[in-house]
Amino acid sequence: MRFEIVATAFDAIEKTTKRLDMTTQMAALLKETPASDARIVIYLTQGRLAPPYENIETGMGEKFVVQAIAKAAGYSKEEVDKRFKKTGDLGETAFELLSKKKQQALVMQTLSVKKVHENFMKLAKTTGEGTQDLKIKLLAELLNFSTPTEAKFIIRFALGSLRLGVGDPTIMDSMARVHLEEFKKMHPAIVKAIQEDKKHEKKEEEELERKIQLKLREQIEAKYNIHSDLGHIAELLAEKGLKGLDAIEMEPGVPIRPTLAERLPSSEEIVEKIGKCAVEAKYDGFRVQIHKHGKNVSIFSRNQENMTDMFPEIVLAAQEQLDAEKCIVEGEALAYNEKLQEFYPFQVTIQRKRKYDIDEKAKELPLKLFLFDCLLIDKKNLMPLPFEERRAHLKKLITSGDTIEMTKSIITDKPKEIDKFFNENVSSGLEGIMCKDLKAPYIAGGRKYAWIKFKRSYKGELQDTVDLAILGYFKGKGKRTEFGLGGLLCGVYDEDADEFKSISKIGTGFSEQMLADLDALLSKHVVKHKPVRVDSEFEPQIWVEPIYVIEVRADEITQSPMHTAGRNKEGVGYALRFPRILKLREDKKGDECTTVKEIITMYENQKKVKIEDSQ
Ligand code: ATP
Repeated sequence: MRFEIVATAFDAIEKTTKRLDMTTQMAALLKETPASDARIVIYLTQGRLAPPYENIETGMGEKFVVQAIAKAAGYSKEEVDKRFKKTGDLGETAFELLSKKKQQALVMQTLSVKKVHENFMKLAKTTGEGTQDLKIKLLAELLNFSTPTEAKFIIRFALGSLRLGVGDPTIMDSMARVHLEEFKKMHPAIVKAIQEDKKHEKKEEEELERKIQLKLREQIEAKYNIHSDLGHIAELLAEKGLKGLDAIEMEPGVPIRPTLAERLPSSEEIVEKIGKCAVEAKYDGFRVQIHKHGKNVSIFSRNQENMTDMFPEIVLAAQEQLDAEKCIVEGEALAYNEKLQEFYPFQVTIQRKRKYDIDEKAKELPLKLFLFDCLLIDKKNLMPLPFEERRAHLKKLITSGDTIEMTKSIITDKPKEIDKFFNENVSSGLEGIMCKDLKAPYIAGGRKYAWIKFKRSYKGELQDTVDLAILGYFKGKGKRTEFGLGGLLCGVYDEDADEFKSISKIGTGFSEQMLADLDALLSKHVVKHKPVRVDSEFEPQIWVEPIYVIEVRADEITQSPMHTAGRNKEGVGYALRFPRILKLREDKKGDECTTVKEIITMYENQKKVKIEDSQ
């Protein structure tokens, strides 16, 4: 397929202002894409070359991209830089300059999707000193054969800032749109049930179609949750239609989307909700998913990034201490002080997240891994089993050793025992506890009451922190002008609408370093208009793609007519009182921030705690 088709579709997507139109455009692109290119088209849309767990970096420095544009467009570097200062976007600059290039008409429309991918793969694999010339050459070669619109997206891709705003939910919706008619034919009973559902009696045809599409989207998402590679799913769908979904299974080496925890404010309510439960210590380190296949071990982060190279002692321990040819297990890894026999705080553990000097740091801060779940052993898929059975399998799987052990836990249905366990753990420096429904299966990618987190409460403050997506920023004043960034507009994620809703403006808690880091990160993802998936009445001075997440502490959640998060028919939504930034959550993508539903639960919990306190 010609890359022009993709670039034209991206151009249209970039100009849409409605989420629904974005899905339509994306579906049209997928329809036009042959099976042999489907995988690549999905990765390019996600701004990557491969699924996230393959750690293939696309990013190239601005300086070198400028040189490639200069080379291809026949301008000097200074001239390209000058134009760049005006547009603020090298993609636009490439578009402008290539539009001016006379011979353009002769070389137009010859670039294929595969060629673009091939050159970028070569570029990504060329590392080390003295390779910059080759990288510039590879990029300039693509530009030599591209139309101005193609050049715009090639350049943005090279910089790692595509600015399209298409999230994974939109991609899955568009896949469902493409296969809707096939789904209707395959599942007449589902279609009939939706049509006959009393709730929809007076609904328009369009609304019914949407409901049917949602059913199919759920099936696609269920596969995505156990095999987090949308490129693979797109390829199978294009090759085999919906039957292709049957072939998608979990597989060591491909991360499973994690199950997530709900919150409740007291041990009484936890017992009321899930009855007798497993109560585990809640460790404050990195969540890791370990995949073992023979001697091959992979370690994935909470958001499916490959962290294998960072933790050599865990790779070794998995080879020695996990007694199965094949297995997938989950746990929390944290740095441990052998001398004092105690855990280091998260701020220390985080030093292990690094690309250089790995072995030295591993010696200085060795990790302990506490396993809490087990999803696969050899050929047996354990996900549908109740938690107590999975835990029994996990116990048998772990052999003795220094690095891997099970999480500390008790089983009880007595709130007093839960409180005692909670207090013991908090006083030994841990964050709190996790209560788990003994009967629940592993719910990949879902936040259900199978797990309930119960954290230390901070006097006068909201019990838990929230993770907010950055929607835009305000320029700095006074001393902060040097950073370009003075405050942030932040939002939470509404899963049903696949939209980010504003909840807070944040101007406190930033260290100078944090301001500088955020400024550098965000400036690469500036967009001209409010992103399609953002719903906010506040207009920041600068909008950004909602892809970065920060952890925020606040005193409480209040109701507010100013923000759109959880807004009801009366126009009242939620806001944060006295919010302050704690840190950037590098392990979360934009739509993995706190959801509107979680904010509502936290608001309700907070009300209950207040009533109890005043009694
Ligand atoms: P979430 O993962 O719910 O979005 P989060 O990433 O901000 O939230 P927390 O709110 O602190 O994390 O709670 C969930 C996390 O707690 C898990 O993702 C896991 O990393 C960690 N954790 C620590 N101990 C355990 C345990 N015993 N069982 C499950 N998770 C645990």
